[in-house]
Amino acid sequence: MPNVETSIFTEMSILANQYQAINLSQGFPEFDTPNFLKDKINQAISEGKNQYSPSNGLPELLTQIAEMVHRQYQTHLPDAQKLNGLNNVTITSGATEALWVAIQTLVRPNDEVIIFDPAYDSYEPAVELAGGICRHITLDAPNYAINWPRVEQSINEKTRAIIINSPHNPTGSILSESDLDTLQSLVEKHNLYVISDEVYEHMTFDGLRHESVLRYPQLFNRSFVVSSFGKTFHCTGWKMGYCAAPNELMAEFRKIHQYVTFCSFTPAQIAIAQMLKEQPAHITELASFYQQKRDVLINALKDSRFTLLPSKGTYFLLLDYSAISTLNDREFCQWLTKEVGVAAIPLSPLYPVEQRPSYHKNNKVIRLCFAKNDDTLRKAAEILCQL
Ligand code: PMP
Ligand code: GLN
Repeated sequence: MPNVETSIFTEMSILANQYQAINLSQGFPEFDTPNFLKDKINQAISEGKNQYSPSNGLPELLTQIAEMVHRQYQTHLPDAQKLNGLNNVTITSGATEALWVAIQTLVRPNDEVIIFDPAYDSYEPAVELAGGICRHITLDAPNYAINWPRVEQSINEKTRAIIINSPHNPTGSILSESDLDTLQSLVEKHNLYVISDEVYEHMTFDGLRHESVLRYPQLFNRSFVVSSFGKTFHCTGWKMGYCAAPNELMAEFRKIHQYVTFCSFTPAQIAIAQMLKEQPAHITELASFYQQKRDVLINALKDSRFTLLPSKGTYFLLLDYSAISTLNDREFCQWLTKEVGVAAIPLSPLYPVEQRPSYHKNNKVIRLCFAKNDDTLRKAAEILCQL
């Protein structure tokens, strides 16, 4: 894979550690996973629940996921259209595995897959390893909304799938109901599939609703929906996620999943099933928890020379630094980490290599992660306000 570099998230975290900078680059929480989960996983391990789970995942976890989905997204649907955990959900080793397997399930040599830039970095290598080709569509600043006429123009007889990501990493934009309506009519008209990366599904702000594909049964019929417990329960290192898909797609997905990992870590499945059942408030309170952190960071940066872009979801905020430096975003982030003491993510590595020179000419934007303690956010902002 000659075009694949070390992930920018790895690169910036190594640099942050080396220079002891405040690390607002790679997205992970500074605070711990809830004690309830730690107690339950410890208990599962000490009770000897340490062998393989069923390949698809523990039935009690599959069922709890379906119940959460019913509560969050499917109260308006008749029972027959609601997600069936046992048939339609598979537990994966992180959303990364779910995305990987969904892509291997769908994409055949020379198939085209539409992705939106800036894009999370695992999509394109997975498409290429399946022999597919990514068709890139740029999301335009400052709102990073999808230009649907542009999408329709890129569809041809080779197009197989569209990968969407809402709430969107790195921009913090979210898709609306009308975006999903348009997506649905396009995929039906052109006989396409959807991979919907919804790992930040529980983090939308200012009363905005997350438009999950799981709300729309007709769209779901052509979709793989991917989520991550790492984001939801502050345990990114557990690498626990899942994929939901209709019966026939899920049957194919499971054939591949069984030969990628067979199953995911059993004690974590036991603990998460109990967490979903007994502590549902953790999820319903997550949006306000992160909105408060976003607002701490926004307030602390209000006297800085950065221009703040809107963050409607995720735990990321974009800053435009054109008033501060003429360096390109990668150089700026290296300088910021080494000389200033705050690490951030440049956006250009999330665009195709051939677009980066022109991207650099027009864009001076970096990403900060606000999944940090308020003190850390204030300390970082104080430093950034001096630039
Ligand atoms: N998709 C997006 C948009 C992400 O931000 C992440 C986490 N970095 C993932 C997928 C992967 O999630 P996980 O850590 O559960 O594999
Ligand atoms: N999702 C995290 C981010 O966007 C990084 C995950 C990773 O390091 N692969 O920062």
